[in-house]
Amino acid sequence: MKLGIVGLPNVGKSTLFNSLTKAGAESANYPFCTIDPNVGVVTVPDKRLDVLGEMYHTKKIVPAAIEFVDIAGLVKGASKGEGLGNQFLANIREVDAIVHVVRCFEDSNIVHVDGNIDPLRDIETINLELIFSDLEILERRIAKTVKVAKNDKTAAKELGLLQRVKAHLEENRMAKSFTADDEEEQIWLESYNLLTAKPVIFAANVAEDDLVDDGASNEGVQAVHKYAEEEGCEVFVVCAQIEQEIAELDDEEKKMFLEDLGLEESGLEKLIKASYHLLGLISYLTAGEPEVRAWTIKRGTKAPQAAGKIHSDFERGFIRAEIVSYDDLMACGTHVAAKEKGLVRLEGKDYVVQDGDIILFRFNV
Ligand code: GDP
Repeated sequence: MKLGIVGLPNVGKSTLFNSLTKAGAESANYPFCTIDPNVGVVTVPDKRLDVLGEMYHTKKIVPAAIEFVDIAGLVKGASKGEGLGNQFLANIREVDAIVHVVRCFEDSNIVHVDGNIDPLRDIETINLELIFSDLEILERRIAKTVKVAKNDKTAAKELGLLQRVKAHLEENRMAKSFTADDEEEQIWLESYNLLTAKPVIFAANVAEDDLVDDGASNEGVQAVHKYAEEEGCEVFVVCAQIEQEIAELDDEEKKMFLEDLGLEESGLEKLIKASYHLLGLISYLTAGEPEVRAWTIKRGTKAPQAAGKIHSDFERGFIRAEIVSYDDLMACGTHVAAKEKGLVRLEGKDYVVQDGDIILFRFNV
């Protein structure tokens, strides 16, 4: 699970990225290490893990994690190969979702590449590069399909789709806001792996003062909200500078700092949860004395495939899953009590795993 952070220069990308990865570095038990300075692993906050950790007397807690990639270097003309343009676009093609940082704060000390603060113009500058890149893909595909379409009905249908998507993008719209006519078209559309079809969260980077009302009185933020709604994206209001300060603090100080600001959790924690949600991800849990751990799956995943996240043997030899939901376990107090009440269920290969299911897999080796 990988998220790419994009945005114009000087909007606060690195500030946000650094605070994200610093916050993430707190979890010493995280099994991955950072390979690339532009890639950071961030753990997904989940209070349930701490509760289970106490219940099972374990010190080893492994939270779910998301990878963030700082994709710097997007400038006007990137799709024409200027700067690190092409490499940048290739990096974006690999991510599951995009966090697009937009500058909504005024600060005369920090130069804006286009002179003044105008979040909507900034978004359009970046999106235009993505759109150009997508148009190239569509045009190549159209050129290939045209010939076949002459005596092939399916190809003719696809050609129609390609031309409609192209027209949509030419109006500066994102592929995200395009509606396919049927499932077949939808599958084709997904196969093009268009940049503007990826889920997007706009991180509206505001001044500290704007945090009180979540940016509601900031005109730039309002414009971002309107745009996001039209294009089917999410908005997230953050003050990167404050997040960086928070990331420097230890847990106790952090709690006090947030209380002072009247906040329950840091903006980053909210951002991480929002990304998780946006991608349709949920966590199932495994709990025991050796470790308590969260495993990331897509909503709708069935038990054997969920087991496969732990080990491919678990999926291949899957027999059944012994499951108690986190809430049921909490209500009963112990696993034994939950079992006595019949709340520990045996589920088979067609069971769709739910968020917060605590699972023990039974399998043949
Ligand atoms: P990037 O080029 O998008 O990665 O931008 P940086 O993260 O390097 O930020 C550019 C400058 O803006 C730095 O001097 C940051 O300290 C500053 N900056 C970032 N976020 C904020 C913010 O929320 N408020 C203010 N006033 N400055 C910020």
